[in-house]
Amino acid sequence: MTLTGNMLIGQQAITGNREAIRAINPATGTVLEPAYLGGGSEHVEQACTLAQEAFDSFRETSLETRATFLETIAAEIEALGDELIDRAVSESGLPRPRIVGERARTCQQLRTFARTVRAGEWLDVRVDNALPERQPLPRADLRQRQVPLGPVAVFGASNFPLAFSVAGGDTASALAAGCSVVVKAHSAHPGTSELVGHAIARAVKESNLPEGVFSLLFGSGREVGVALVSDPRIKAVGFTGSRSGGMALCKVAAARPEPIPVYAEMSSINPVLLFPAALQARGESLAQGFVASLTQGAGQFCTNPGLVIGHQGPALDRFISTAARLVQQSPAQTMLTPGIFQAYEAGIGSLQELNSAQEAAAGLRGETPNQCQAHLFVTRAGDFLADPALQAEVFGAAALVVQCADDEEIRQVLEHLEGQLTITLQLDEADLDSARAMLATLERKAGRLLVNGWPTGVEVCDAMVHGGPFPATSDTRTTSVGTAAIQRFLRPVCYQDFPDSLLPTALKHANPLHLRRLLDGHREVLENA
Ligand code: NAP
Repeated sequence: MTLTGNMLIGQQAITGNREAIRAINPATGTVLEPAYLGGGSEHVEQACTLAQEAFDSFRETSLETRATFLETIAAEIEALGDELIDRAVSESGLPRPRIVGERARTCQQLRTFARTVRAGEWLDVRVDNALPERQPLPRADLRQRQVPLGPVAVFGASNFPLAFSVAGGDTASALAAGCSVVVKAHSAHPGTSELVGHAIARAVKESNLPEGVFSLLFGSGREVGVALVSDPRIKAVGFTGSRSGGMALCKVAAARPEPIPVYAEMSSINPVLLFPAALQARGESLAQGFVASLTQGAGQFCTNPGLVIGHQGPALDRFISTAARLVQQSPAQTMLTPGIFQAYEAGIGSLQELNSAQEAAAGLRGETPNQCQAHLFVTRAGDFLADPALQAEVFGAAALVVQCADDEEIRQVLEHLEGQLTITLQLDEADLDSARAMLATLERKAGRLLVNGWPTGVEVCDAMVHGGPFPATSDTRTTSVGTAAIQRFLRPVCYQDFPDSLLPTALKHANPLHLRRLLDGHREVLENA
C-alpha cells in the first residue's frame, strides 16, 4: 500500500491542515516520507461524531460478530506482510526480530480478546430472582450486566509501535468491550500507524460495522490529544507514555463538566530485591540476568529493572562488580526517537551531577545517532531516602543499586518507594521468612510481584496485571495488559422487574448465551460447559 499521509476518519481518508509530522529513522537520522499533516479540533469533532453514531449499534453486536471482527483485524495486520515490518523497523530503530515478535503479540492479543468476548464471562451476569412472598417486603427481579462506557480515546505508545499502538492492547480491549475507538497516533511512527489503521478500517468494512467504530488521527498531543480527551462524547482514555503527558491528560479529563477515567500507564522503576541467601549463592548469575534484562531493547520497557536493593557487604559488592563489568561490555543501542534519546541523556547527566549516587559503570559508546549507552549507579539507603531525584524514571538502560545496612533499612526503602508496575524478589529457601515479612508492603507498592525471574517480558493472559499504584498508573485498580484490561471500559447496569422480552439477551430468563451467571447467590454450573 502507498502511504498517503492522511488520517482516517471512519472510512474516509482526510488530509490534515496543521503542522506536518515526519517520522525520523532514529538509526540514521533520515527523515522518512510522506509528511503527515496534523489534524485539529475540527477533525476530532468529525471522528467523535462518527464514534458516537456507531456506538449504540456496535455495543449491541453479538459476541460472535465482535469476536470475528477482532480476528479479522489480526488477519488484516498479518496480510500487510513485510511492508509493515519494514516501516516499523525504520520508524522505531528496533531490530527486525523484535518487530516481527511484536506483530505476533499484537495479533495474539486481538485473538485472545476474541476468545474472551465469545466466552462472555466479562458480562458478569448476576441474577436475583423476584421473591414475591418474602416478608416483611417482597424482592423485585434484579438483573445486572456490564455495558461498554462509550467511545474511547487511545494514545499510541512510542515504545510498542504495534502492540501498544493503533491496534494494541488499549484498542483491542476497548473494541472487545464494545466501545468505538478514536486513536491519536504517536508522532514517532505515523507510517506504521497508517498501515495498521487501514487494516482496522478494512476489518470494519468486512464485518459490516458502522464506519465510526474506528478513526485514526495524527497531530500534536496538545491540540488533537487535548481536544479528544475534552470531547463530551469520549467516555474513557487509554494512554502509555511519560508521567508529564499522562498527568496533563488526567487534568484535562478531570476538568471536564463530566469527568472521565484516564487509564494512563506512566512511570515505574521496577525494583529488584536481592535476598541474602540468593545473593550469596548465585550473585554472578543474578548479575548476568539483571544486566540482560536492563539492556534489553535499550531499556525502553515500562518494566525495565531500574532499581536494585540489597544488603551491603561482600556478596552485594561482588554482584555490583560483575554487573558493572557486563554493563561496560554492553553495546550501545538505538533509541526510539531523538527526543527519547535526549531525555535519557539528560536523566543520566542529572544522576552524574548528584553527590548522592556514584557511577559504577557505563556501557560502550554509540557510533551512530541516538544510541543509548547503558549506565549503572550505586547509592546508600540513607541517600536514597533523602533524595527523591534518585527514584525518578530514567527511560532507557540505566539502573541504581541501593545498599542497605539491614532489614530495617530495606523496609524503609520499600516504604519510601512510589507505586510500581513490578517488584522482583530474587530469593532462595533460606530467604522465605524475610520475603514473607515484606509481602504486605510489596503488595501495597506494585501490581505484579515476581520471584526469581526478571520483569521485562509481559505475558498477555488472563492472570496478568500490568498496572500498579501511582505513578505506575493513574488508576491502581486495573491492568492494561491481559484480558482483565476489558474491565476498564465497562460499567454495570441493573435491570429491575423488566419483562423478559425487553431484557438484553445476556439477561433473559432462558440464558440463551449459556453464561455462567451468579444466580440467587450461587455461581451456576452449566451442563456441557
Ligand atoms: P509522551 O511524551 O508522554 O507522549 C505520548 C503521547 O502523549 C503523544 O501522543 C504525545 O503527543 C501526547 N502528549 C504528551 N504530552 C502531552 C500533553 N502535555 N498534552 C497532551 N498530549 C500530550 O511519551 P513518549 O513520546 O513516548 O516519550 C517521552 C518520554 O516518555 C520518554 O522519554 C519516557 O521518559 C517516557 N515513556 C515512558 C514509558 C513507560 O512505559 N514508562 C513509555 C514510553 C515513554 P505528541 O505527539 O504531541 O508528542
